[in-house]
Amino acid sequence: MTGLYRDRGIVLRTYKLGEADRIVVLLSEHHGKVRAVAKGVRKTKSRFGARLEPLSHVNLLLYRGRELDVVSQADSIDHFRALRDDLDRLTRAVALLEVVDQLAQEREENSRLYMMLLGALRSLASRDSVLLVPAFFWKLLAAEGLGPELDTCVSCGSPDTLVAYDVGEGGVLCRTCRRGVALSPAALDLLRRILGGDLARVLAEPASAAAHEVEVLATRAVEHHLERRLRSVSLLQEG
Ligand SMILES: [Zn+2]
Repeated sequence: MTGLYRDRGIVLRTYKLGEADRIVVLLSEHHGKVRAVAKGVRKTKSRFGARLEPLSHVNLLLYRGRELDVVSQADSIDHFRALRDDLDRLTRAVALLEVVDQLAQEREENSRLYMMLLGALRSLASRDSVLLVPAFFWKLLAAEGLGPELDTCVSCGSPDTLVAYDVGEGGVLCRTCRRGVALSPAALDLLRRILGGDLARVLAEPASAAAHEVEVLATRAVEHHLERRLRSVSLLQEG
């Protein structure tokens, strides 16, 4: 199928093509992940070079190609200046883009993922939060049907003394069956709240030992799913 189509999208990353062109990888609202050539954007008089940087939310007119689409028009919806001007927030935003890039399927509509990413970027633009990235990762896993079991031990079914989490099993374990990593009661509570509809209040909370546990575990769980280490996430945790 060829021809022109319109969509909105968030630029996940870009890379050079030849002397003057750039390939833009976007998560679009209705066409999944799209790879498109932006012609001439690396020349100084480019019409839309600056609008097609990672993080940018844009309205697009695209020409469908066999392998790569071609950007015909790009109009900025939101440039997320607040994220670009703050290194901590930018690092978090890049972690979101990287995971979405690895998870999204090309040309397969996933408007829920698009809305989740857009919501997370807007939330991060309005207020920095240490739990934003981990909360996004847990929500993402849940949306993929890989939500963690948090109520009963994944081995014996006991609801009592849940003290560990195993990413392979995707859930909590009781004291008798424990394996994986230790999980404090406060971290378990945070996890339950993230996935149980209390996200807004969780995001307003300051850094804590429990938040750090939830963050480390979120990265491991997503990595387990993606089966590869996420460079930007490890940078975030070393910082
Ligand atoms: Zn058990």
